[in-house]
Amino acid sequence: MDITKILDPLNDAQRLAVTAPSQAMLVLAGAGSGKTRVLVHRIAWQIQVEGLPAHSILAVTFTNKAAKEMRGRIENLLNLPAQALWIGTFHGIAHRLLRRHAKEAKLPETFQVMDSGDQLRVIKRLLNTLNMDDSRWPPREVQWYINAQKDEGIRAKHMVETADIHQRQMLRIYRSYEELCERSGLVDFAELLLRAHELLRDKTDVLDFYQRRFRQVHVDEFQDTNTIQYAWLRLLTEGRDNLFVVGDDDQSIYGWRGAKIENIYNFQKHYQNHQVIKLEQNYRSTGTILKAANNIIANNAGRMGKELWTDAGEGDKISLYAAFNEQDEAYFVVERIRAWVNEGGLRSDAAILYRSNAQSRQFEEKLMATGVPYRVYGGLRFFDRAEIKNALAFLRLLSNRDDDASFERVINTPTRGIGAKTLDDIRCIARDQGLSLWAAAIVLINQRSMTARATNALIGFLELIKQLAKQTEELGLYEKVKLVVEKSGLVELYQKEKMDKGEEKVENLEELVNAARLFNFDQDTQENLGELDMFLAHAALESGDNQADDYEDSVQLMTLHSAKGLEFKLVFLSGMEEGLFPSQQSVDDVSRLEEERRLCYVGMTRAMRQLYLTYAESRRLYGRESYPRPSRFLREIPGEYIQEVRMRATVSHPVTAVQPKASSLQATGSYKLGQRVSHAKFGEGVILQLEGSGAQERVQVNFKQAGVKWLMLAYAKLEVL
Ligand code: ATP
Ligand code: MG
Repeated sequence: MDITKILDPLNDAQRLAVTAPSQAMLVLAGAGSGKTRVLVHRIAWQIQVEGLPAHSILAVTFTNKAAKEMRGRIENLLNLPAQALWIGTFHGIAHRLLRRHAKEAKLPETFQVMDSGDQLRVIKRLLNTLNMDDSRWPPREVQWYINAQKDEGIRAKHMVETADIHQRQMLRIYRSYEELCERSGLVDFAELLLRAHELLRDKTDVLDFYQRRFRQVHVDEFQDTNTIQYAWLRLLTEGRDNLFVVGDDDQSIYGWRGAKIENIYNFQKHYQNHQVIKLEQNYRSTGTILKAANNIIANNAGRMGKELWTDAGEGDKISLYAAFNEQDEAYFVVERIRAWVNEGGLRSDAAILYRSNAQSRQFEEKLMATGVPYRVYGGLRFFDRAEIKNALAFLRLLSNRDDDASFERVINTPTRGIGAKTLDDIRCIARDQGLSLWAAAIVLINQRSMTARATNALIGFLELIKQLAKQTEELGLYEKVKLVVEKSGLVELYQKEKMDKGEEKVENLEELVNAARLFNFDQDTQENLGELDMFLAHAALESGDNQADDYEDSVQLMTLHSAKGLEFKLVFLSGMEEGLFPSQQSVDDVSRLEEERRLCYVGMTRAMRQLYLTYAESRRLYGRESYPRPSRFLREIPGEYIQEVRMRATVSHPVTAVQPKASSLQATGSYKLGQRVSHAKFGEGVILQLEGSGAQERVQVNFKQAGVKWLMLAYAKLEVL
């Protein structure tokens, strides 16, 4: 047996963790120290050396992409396919359990998974039926409330009404929402986790089966597990101490979604015989990047305390670019990437990271304009596009007529003369009689209260679905999707749309058919479930990992949150501005600010060789213009690790980040584009243009309050900010 492949690429501490006998273990270590590597090698070790069958191992990762990568690496170490290995996200694994045990989990066999967009729509509709005003009860807030309860394992029935009116109403909505989901066989993401937990908790035979089956349970990114996730890990490993977790308290970035760093302490309390292994060598980044990141995170209180070192050498300084505005920022970043590629770098080794999804558009536009291929992770996903959702809604209805969200989505798409009045009537009946919209539509037809035209239109829709169901009954997934796409009328609808948008939509529909053809059942052949339902669940769970052109060398764009666990040679951390990063909501709240700081630590430690930090002096985002101050995180990096760069030349004098720029300007008395200035009468603004010289020198300034003005510099007495 050749075990060198498994052990050679490890240092002593890593080896210790990989080869330790089965016991509860916590590998606690900073970024890039090889935690994920340890997890992969340990699984390979257990299969190859300890002789554990692959199906007795469960591994939980944070994203589908990470799961895929991990499986690939394990197979590579073993030289074997490891199909039987259960590896996936908490949601993916919960889904699998529920599919296998739908009945025990009190779910219909055909239950449908809703992604967060679906969930939001269902909530909107619910508020409508409850006659609750959207503006007083913002659907997103309701969604957040419901999910937060579920993440804590709390159902409506567990909650007591308080005197607080707001709480009472929220509870009422939560209760109705649960009823509605129950009735329509709909399961949201938080529900997946909660149901799976209840299943394991309440059905001892099921729990028993999985406890015996999974002889080892591994978790990556343990610091970001929430209450319910940890609860089911405990159930699965109760009394056996076979839980192996790796994590880093400094990289906990999902507190806002209910993740609990405390789980690291809980683990140490609950698993008395656990062992802790610390890894201290970082293999990813240069000394400079590592030291700068360490300096930033040192500003957080209450850390578990870890030191990281590297023998990789200092490397280049971190580059800081002050952009005039967000377009200039995007232009700069894209130019640098082009230079990187010209020097032989791979595009896929370059990543643009941002705090908020909306920031991607500027980068996308510049990349597109210069013809640089790119991929956006977690942006508008293929399966989120309207045309795809419409086609999926037809497919979902074939599977489950009571899927109200889908019913509503396509009842009049393409238009078939079913008006708002008919839909309202259907909703009323559904509400009054506790029926699904489909059942309510049949009641409405039987009441014979509608005009002949409206009746025919509605009958037409119901017939269409029934026909499609009949025609596709015997077909395989691919033919099924193909036929539904053709007969749904969607293709004709988009073909009629002007300009290339419609054409693109038709192409996307074709891509959907293609996706069905390529859909891989390998992992799920044991599942006792129709192909179509598997495919629909896949569509809901898939999180942008499958964007087109997987093979093409392309620049990677993603939010800081989705960059977790990944690494790139060249990283741009953009939008380093107060109010954006750290986000506006976090600046007055110490614990949220610390989470932002951890996010900054995560972002910086993605970089292997070169790190650029950029900020814009004026930014238009969400349709508003602002003149943000540079992020406080920039000030937390010692000046010796930073060099300020300009568009073309590199200025190598160190700056103690940020402030000095203004003072150096004052010293020379010169102004430049993008400079923030203040005027006695007009207040604060930013310089847009400069003209003339000497006494004739004029500047155009965009003042926050007073708008755009031309001023003579000699008289304006502008103060540089
Ligand atoms: P993160 O906290 O960001 O998730 P991590 O601790 O999981 O990081 P890995 O991604 O496992 O770290 O490893 C970081 C990099 O270091 C990877 O490129 C990995 O291949 C490499 N690496 C890990 N251990 C070693 C080692 N012993 N020798 C050489 N390279 C290593
Ligand atoms: Mg990792």
